[in-house]
Formats: sequence, structure tokens, C-alpha cells
Amino acid sequence: MPDAAFPTPAMAATPTILIAEDETAIADTVLYALRSEGFAAEHVLLGGEVAPKVRAGGVDLVVLDVGLPDITGFDVCRTLRTFSEVPVIFLTARDGEIDRVVGLELGADDYVVKPFSPRELVARVRARLRRRTQTEIAAWQAHGTFEIDREGKRIRYCGHALDLTRYEYGLLEVLMHRPGAVLSRMQLMDRVWADALESGDRTVDTHIKTLRAKLRSLNEQDDPIRTHRGLGYSLDTGG
Ligand code: CA
Repeated sequence: MPDAAFPTPAMAATPTILIAEDETAIADTVLYALRSEGFAAEHVLLGGEVAPKVRAGGVDLVVLDVGLPDITGFDVCRTLRTFSEVPVIFLTARDGEIDRVVGLELGADDYVVKPFSPRELVARVRARLRRRTQTEIAAWQAHGTFEIDREGKRIRYCGHALDLTRYEYGLLEVLMHRPGAVLSRMQLMDRVWADALESGDRTVDTHIKTLRAKLRSLNEQDDPIRTHRGLGYSLDTGG
């Protein structure tokens, strides 16, 4: 079992950088520089391709050109921030773009002005990823085999990220609050489905079932959600 006091950072051993840049000469230089420094790097030509890639997972940082042919880097960043905290480093031209990057509070983490040295960009990427790893470690709380980041609304089980729906997350979060405590269906409904328009008798059971299946897919040996007949459910965090 991993040492609960030091949860492993979410980032994979080889961070993946996504570059959105319509000038292929620049993109190729950046890709080459990142890959030769041990990063995995992917390239897209259009702004519209960025959000779907980030949403699909596995992108640790985005290098985003401001002047893209379809939508601006600013708009791409705005869209990203509606669902992701992935670090963004802007590539800007010398004209008015720099002021906008600095002034607009877009949630960008850094920017590099063209023309730039690939070495400088790689250094910025490295620095930004290091910072992210540190804040991520601080955000995660360990409860035995489970780790939770309440701000990021993320839970890991046996060291693996769980892909949870909103209500599955809510259930697990409430159960994790006091491991071992038995909560009735009514109590779980009140806490997790407080603002739901529609919910029935089977709602809790149905979500417990899907949650169990997700936990089992990561660890077949254990069934940490305990059923207490006539009483409700509890969570065994094993710690
Ligand atoms: Ca451009």
C-alpha cells in the first residue's frame, strides 16, 4: 500500500505538453525542444482542437499561440477555464497582445514573446509543472486507500484517479467524511441530492452500484463500500 502521508502526484512520469500553433516552423521547433528534454509533446493547428484534447485527459500543460486562425488563444483559454485548471503558457506577438495577456486575467500562467528561444520556453514549462506538482500534493488528503482533493472535486483510489459523475463524487465524499460511520439512504439523499430536481427511492442504490463497479475495476480484491441491511452504507478506507 502507498504511504498515505505522501500521496503520489497526479502527473504522469512523462508530462504531456499540447502546443496550439498555426505556424508549423515554430511548432516543429517547440516540439523538438520539448521532446529532446524528455517531454511528450503534441501539436494542433487550430484553437478549436485544444479544449476537446484537454477534456479527453492526459494533457499536463498547454502552450497556446494567441493568434490562431479560427479562434484566438484568449478565447481558447477562457473555454479551458470553464472546466480545467491545466496550466497555460501563451505565445504572443510583440504588438498589443502582451498587454492583453497581462491585463485580462485570463487564468494564463505565463507567456513567452515571439521570437523566443526554445530553451527559454522549455525552462518555463518545467518551472510551471514543478509548481503544479507542489500545489497538487498540498491539495490531496489521504484517507487510507482513498485520496481526496475537495477543491478540485477529485478522488483517487489505490493511487488511481476515479472518473466520477457529480453524484458519485458526492456520495463518496460524504462517506469519506467519517470513514466507518453508517449513513442511511435518507441522510445520503439529503446531503448529496439536496439540489436535485428529481430523485427516487432507488437513486442512492443505483449510484452506489455504479460507484462500486468503478472501484472494483481498479481493485478487484476489495469492496470498500459496506452495505448495512436496513441501516444504510459506510465506507471502509482501510486506514
Ligand atoms: Ca499564429
